[in-house]
Amino acid sequence: MNPLFARLPTSIFARMSMLAAEHDAINLGQGFPDFGWPDDVVAKAAEALTQGSNQYAPMRGLPELRQAVASHYRQHQSIDVHHDWVTVTSGATEALAAAITALVTPGDEVLLLQPLYDAYLPLVLRAGGVPRLIRLEPPSWRITADVLDEAFAGAPRLLIFNNPHNPTARVFDEGEQRLLADRCVRHDCVLLTDEVWEHVVFEGARHRPMSALPGMAGRSVKVGSAGKIFSLTGWKVGWIVAPPELGGPISKAHQYLAYATPPNLQAAVAYGLTKDESYFAAMRADFAKARDVLSARLTEADFVPLTSEGTYFLSIDLTASGIAVDDVTFCERAVREAGVAAIPVSSFYAEDPVTSVVRLCFAKEPETLALGVDRMRAAKALFSS
Ligand code: PMP
Ligand code: GLN
Repeated sequence: MNPLFARLPTSIFARMSMLAAEHDAINLGQGFPDFGWPDDVVAKAAEALTQGSNQYAPMRGLPELRQAVASHYRQHQSIDVHHDWVTVTSGATEALAAAITALVTPGDEVLLLQPLYDAYLPLVLRAGGVPRLIRLEPPSWRITADVLDEAFAGAPRLLIFNNPHNPTARVFDEGEQRLLADRCVRHDCVLLTDEVWEHVVFEGARHRPMSALPGMAGRSVKVGSAGKIFSLTGWKVGWIVAPPELGGPISKAHQYLAYATPPNLQAAVAYGLTKDESYFAAMRADFAKARDVLSARLTEADFVPLTSEGTYFLSIDLTASGIAVDDVTFCERAVREAGVAAIPVSSFYAEDPVTSVVRLCFAKEPETLALGVDRMRAAKALFSS
């Protein structure tokens, strides 16, 4: 048995969803919408299921989906992607596993920014990578030149970056992105750029892919996921976009992890990616509305929310909200005693955690949000003397 995996805790998302079910709680923890999905995309999948193939899809993905991903990025992000650069994976999670497996050689230094999405670190360690953690702090969660220069001193092979960022809900600004790109180019470092939240950005912002920055197209491995683009988190259809020198080995790893992804779901995602801008604009507007509802209700209930620029998430600052316990204690009691599940942000740190921030998912019907905040109020009352 590999002791690394034997020691790992169950993912915080699985654990909180399980506790929410056990305690009949409102689940504002794991990130998934409770208000449906685009019916036409699901109808396409149903049609493909009954009328298309149910046998193995091509290892690197259905040609129509690889084409659709390439033209989607050309249209929405103005990047020139060839369909040969696309490999379809079983969710972004498998894309990350394949990329880290293929790109990291034992002893390679790998830079990661904390708070970090839970899958990154165990995969880096299993590949024999030596992690170097860059710590971001609330409320600004900013990336600075000083911190980066210190981190790059050890000649890293790979940097793993997530933007828009889970759990902080930051959309890193162009200056921060340029700093990262500049250091990657200068130190000949490959960038694994997890952009699964690329369409969920607010205030009229447009997603800036890292591969569009000078010198980055040839050294970026971009990860995407249909789960977030179409509110279909259960489908697990993702992809990587990478130049052949990087994408080739990654697809070799993919062939031994999943080999291929269900063809019917791929066909439906290929259809969905051709939707016009109005679909994506309406989706963003709906999520922004839900975020504002949650933020306003939390403020009314005397919580102090942090800014949310993208993703499905909004966090609260416990200390500023007058709650003098750590995030894990708050979340454990909130789900068991007040009937609301949330995610402690310290679980996204491997060392030196920030313990005063709790993440909430706002991708819910207004009634769910209202009930959730009533219960957050009850959770807060558990800690007032
Ligand atoms: N990366 C990030 C930053 C995520 O937030 C998620 C899930 N929300 C994933 C990867 C995994 O995506 P998928 O469900 O497509 O595997
Ligand atoms: N990405 C989702 C979140 O942050 C959860 C994904 C998962 O459950 N593995 O909530």
